[in-house]
Amino acid sequence: MLVVVLASWSQVVWSQQADNGQRVVLVMTDGLRWQEVFRGADASLLTPKRYFDGRDVSELEKEFLAATPEERREKLMPFLWKTMVPSGQIYGDRDAGSDAFVTNGLNFSYPGYSETLTGHGDPRINSNDNVLNPNLTVLAWLNHQPGMEGKVAAFGAWDVIASAVNPEKCGCAVNAGYAPFTMEPMTPRLEFLNRMKAETPEVWEGEPFDAPEFYTAMEYIKAKKPRVVFVSLGETDEWAHQNNYGEYLIAAHRVDAYLKQLWDTLQAMPEYRGKTTMIFLPDHGRGSGPDDWTSHGQKIPDAKYIFMAFMGPETPALGNRMHVEAVTQSQVAATLAKILGYDWNAVEPKAGLPVGAAVR
Ligand SMILES: [Zn+2]
Repeated sequence: MLVVVLASWSQVVWSQQADNGQRVVLVMTDGLRWQEVFRGADASLLTPKRYFDGRDVSELEKEFLAATPEERREKLMPFLWKTMVPSGQIYGDRDAGSDAFVTNGLNFSYPGYSETLTGHGDPRINSNDNVLNPNLTVLAWLNHQPGMEGKVAAFGAWDVIASAVNPEKCGCAVNAGYAPFTMEPMTPRLEFLNRMKAETPEVWEGEPFDAPEFYTAMEYIKAKKPRVVFVSLGETDEWAHQNNYGEYLIAAHRVDAYLKQLWDTLQAMPEYRGKTTMIFLPDHGRGSGPDDWTSHGQKIPDAKYIFMAFMGPETPALGNRMHVEAVTQSQVAATLAKILGYDWNAVEPKAGLPVGAAVR
């Protein structure tokens, strides 16, 4: 009986045939709040006290503040609001009757990455310790589908991202934290990025600034043209924990510029043009107000609220989804798989269903 169960499980896991030629880039930025994404910068948090040691904030005010939430969010994340949302969809605008939330109940990082990559919370993932994810991720499963082998890659600024993906189980290219990245052939740019990581101070444990990892991912994409890429960035969370609202805004603005750079690069490559979907979300939200905006976790229930954005040929252009059914982070894995023509729920019954309206 056990043999039969195992055989049928492995059959389900490894033998779906559905390649439709689509590509997906999944971008996550750690702990960026839905409040900034939908309302833009919060003037009450943008004070000298919350921008290092009282440095002048007037330039940031000029750059990010405006009269309305719509103007402010376009200033903060112009690519998201002028390109991604109009030609795709975004969920999580709680001011407009649209909730997006994590279901793992913990509202911190590793549980959120695992929920995103597997489609379900897991009580065993209850810390940010750098331990291998015992679960099969949608990335690992995709990398074992016929024609997809070696076409999945993951890049994380935070070193724990490698463990969340579980490189051995995935068999895919994975790079995270301060680890150097090598591929065949090496490029001068990659050698330089590895030196930058090795020779800059470790301000945050296990997590360089976003730039080296983003450009490592870009270099790999240009050289190897993977079908599925996961890019995870971390500065938004780190600056927030330091109560530095100025750098937090600048980091969010930079992530938006990275989305644009990634998208423009992909659209200029025949392998990706017109057949690539971008998915963008955080691993968790954060609290609100001057005391709680810096933090998140089980004790801040509202930190479960996130945003989720989709853009690509499989996604109808419905824009900012207002007054719609709530969506959850546990739906991302199945949505990602469905875009590529696969049924993740048949593999992982605990996973949330695809976001129905986000895939044709
Ligand atoms: Zn996080």
